[in-house]
Amino acid sequence: MKNQLQLLWRLQTVERQIEESRREIYSYPVALERLQHMREARHEKEEEEKKKIEELERERMNKEGELEMERERIKRSQLKLLEIKTNKEYQALLQEIEGGTERNSQREEEIIVLLENIDQTKAAYATTVEQGRQENIQVEEETAEIKNRIVATEQDIIRNQHIREEIVRELDPELLRRYDTLKEKRNGIAVVLVKNEGCQGCYVNIPPQMYNEVQKHKEIIVCPNCNRILYWEDTRTV
Ligand SMILES: [Zn+2]
Repeated sequence: MKNQLQLLWRLQTVERQIEESRREIYSYPVALERLQHMREARHEKEEEEKKKIEELERERMNKEGELEMERERIKRSQLKLLEIKTNKEYQALLQEIEGGTERNSQREEEIIVLLENIDQTKAAYATTVEQGRQENIQVEEETAEIKNRIVATEQDIIRNQHIREEIVRELDPELLRRYDTLKEKRNGIAVVLVKNEGCQGCYVNIPPQMYNEVQKHKEIIVCPNCNRILYWEDTRTV
């Protein structure tokens, strides 16, 4: 019986490993997706900053166009000033020139602010591009690593399935059926270790007599509380 119990314990261990591997494989696409989202967010930020630079440049060009047009107007007014006959007209034209000059100095200040803004946005954009470049390298490395892990985990599953088949071949079919039923009823755990006179499945103490019996490995003994098969691992020989 000792051998059968050991086989049962190994069967449960290997089955849990297979389940764990499957869970891992399910989690990999999520990790890949997270990396992809990170990349997309960075790209979006890049595009936004690029658009902002373009907008600012357009604004600057408009302002410079207005500045130039105003200059032309002022120049024409100044020429006209020479041909003016009446004082009233002269004053009016002078006021127009003054107004234009004021508007242009305002525009020049605005252009300076725009240029500063453009410089800052370009610097931010360059930082984003550089960060994106480094991030891409990182994402590619991580993606490759995840893909390697998927392959390795799939190989683990295949190896463990072979081990499982070998164990099942040696197991008493009746015991296997009992194990399978119990596993289904007890959340995937059919065999539990007994430690310090307690069941490690439900953490309830078992009677001392039963504890002795479990250590003898002579028959299948189940926990009086959770009904799981009790297994005692002899750590002195392991
Ligand atoms: Zn129990």
